[in-house]
Amino acid sequence: MRIICPVKRVPDTAADKSIDQDTLTLDRDASDPVLNANDEWSIEEAMRIKERDGAEVIVLCVGPENAQTTIRKALSYGLDGAIQVADPAIAGSDAKAIARVLAAALAEEDFDLVLMGNQSSDARTMLVPAMLAEYLGLPALTYAKRLQLADGSATVDRETPSGHQTVTAPLPAIVSVVEAINEPRYPSFKGIMAAKKKPLETRDLAALGVDAGEVGLANSSTQVLEITPRPPKEAGDKIEDDGSGVVGAKALVEFLAAQKLI
Ligand SMILES: Cc1cc2nc3c(=O)[nH]c(=O)nc-3n(C[C@H](O)[C@H](O)[C@H](O)COP(=O)(O)OP(=O)(O)OC[C@H]3O[C@@H](n4cnc5c(N)ncnc54)[C@H](O)[C@@H]3O)c2cc1C
Repeated sequence: MRIICPVKRVPDTAADKSIDQDTLTLDRDASDPVLNANDEWSIEEAMRIKERDGAEVIVLCVGPENAQTTIRKALSYGLDGAIQVADPAIAGSDAKAIARVLAAALAEEDFDLVLMGNQSSDARTMLVPAMLAEYLGLPALTYAKRLQLADGSATVDRETPSGHQTVTAPLPAIVSVVEAINEPRYPSFKGIMAAKKKPLETRDLAALGVDAGEVGLANSSTQVLEITPRPPKEAGDKIEDDGSGVVGAKALVEFLAAQKLI
């Protein structure tokens, strides 16, 4: 079994985001980069399959040169190797253009399963897994909170707003997972050291046969036209008390009642 885990380098979710005012894209160098949290669940699931049934697990990352730190982080969980697609022409690509590049990279590989997070914490479009499946002509089993592999097929319980669905598809397939699927492990010291030496291959658009005119900021299907900063927070109502506790308590009760909170 060969599993490929697409991963993304994203800005630290806790950091303030900075926008490049010329391109209206995220300034990715303005905050510390991290491995997209949802990718930790797909990596954990891939590791469990590897440990249970035996599998080769490869990381795939479309990201600039400095995304290699994120790739090594992904490898530190125990994965076997990585492929990075880096090319200046990819900068500014939207979800569809990134799916196009990921699909071209996957088309060059043998795999049974593509296991990925359902969204990235910076874009949150939740579109890439389904777009990837469409480009590759493969089944998409999305929002998986449980995955079972047997007899050349994948069965997942899909999380839906009203409960869950159980769906099965033959392999190879694209499976995207949600948080409920597992509890990711921490990388061990041995894993962190081993990650430094794991093979990492790089590709550019030419190597994948993708025309630069299909990707990048100018060639994406969606364009950000305007960004308006969130208005500053206004000061809230202040409840004063005269020291007796009674005046303040009365005012507080009246305020909560007016808000229909009590
Ligand atoms: C404020 C804001 C609001 C948005 N709102 C929405 C929305 O509501 N809906 C929606 O669908 N989209 C939204 N987007 C996303 C947007 O449509 C596109 O995804 C955007 O134009 C790409 O911007 P980015 O900041 O992700 O670009 P980038 O930072 O360039 O990243 C795009 C991708 O390209 C990769 N990349 C960058 N450089 C390289 C390189 N040298 N080699 C390989 N890969 C590289 C990155 O890793 C990333 O995966 C929003 C974006 C912003 C900034």
